[in-house]
Amino acid sequence: MLLFSQIHGQQRQLEALRRAIDSGKLANAYLFSGPAGVGKATTALAFAAALNCEQAPGRGCGACGPCEKLAGGHHPDLLTLVAEKQFIVVDQVRALEQRLAFPPHEARYRLVLIDGADRLNPSAANALLKAVEEPRPGTLFVLVSAVVHRVMPTLISRCQRLHFAPLPREAVESALERALPDHDPERRAVAASVCEGSPGRAFGLLEGDGLAAAQATLDQLMSAASGSRAADIFAAAQEAGRDKAHIAQVLDLLRIRLRDLLLAQAGLEGRLAGSSQADKVAERARALGLPRIRSQLRAVQEAEEALFGNVNASLLLENLALRLREEGLR
Ligand SMILES: [Zn+2]
Repeated sequence: MLLFSQIHGQQRQLEALRRAIDSGKLANAYLFSGPAGVGKATTALAFAAALNCEQAPGRGCGACGPCEKLAGGHHPDLLTLVAEKQFIVVDQVRALEQRLAFPPHEARYRLVLIDGADRLNPSAANALLKAVEEPRPGTLFVLVSAVVHRVMPTLISRCQRLHFAPLPREAVESALERALPDHDPERRAVAASVCEGSPGRAFGLLEGDGLAAAQATLDQLMSAASGSRAADIFAAAQEAGRDKAHIAQVLDLLRIRLRDLLLAQAGLEGRLAGSSQADKVAERARALGLPRIRSQLRAVQEAEEALFGNVNASLLLENLALRLREEGLR
């Protein structure tokens, strides 16, 4: 997926980029913010194609030399910086600077994509500042982040910011229908409602039936956590394994489950993800009470933030389940 026209939603953001290309008023650096899986990095690639396309300048054709190289991930003037371990470190920025000292190989516009700008550690972010401030002509930076409050403020201030919002549930559902027409419609609907407006997350849930596996892990964990034996929680968390993508989906489902309790508390049963069980959800919400629902939701969000740091995923799940058990499960 490489063209502006293939990106789901985000019309205002795409229009801003098209206008910038058409008018020649390009910023040195852009910051694409917004939740994971809503198309930020994909848009950065489409932006590079639109900037360099030979057939449809400003739009991208998907078929000319530059478009093909970008789609295949081997364009020499698309430079990508991502965290190799926990952080993007200063050595990576220095290596980038060395490449930027030379003119682009062949592109009209060289694009530097920093995917996960919140993971630049302070010295890397400082080293990057100067490059972003005074880029060589024809070099553009696109910083992408789902956690903007962790991006260094001086770096943010050098960027033109575009915020990518979550998509409405119906928009995700129709995106899934277009992309996966043979998939079970009911599963598509569930994925669309639990993905929080993120088509990327929804695709992740449907691929390889991750949704069913995540649901099974969650059921097992919740049943262990509502029992009396801590050893059962330990066993369930161990069995969940250390695959962080899988654990992230389990946390997704748990967060949705708690969010449904909040909605039920507020009398908004019509908006539940699991709308077929509205009565049960309302009953659980009453039994648990608002303060505990909020506190559990916070615990899940904290676990989600910690997950992609340097933690043992099954230990994280175990601690979370123990905490939920302490507060009382319903
Ligand atoms: Zn093209």
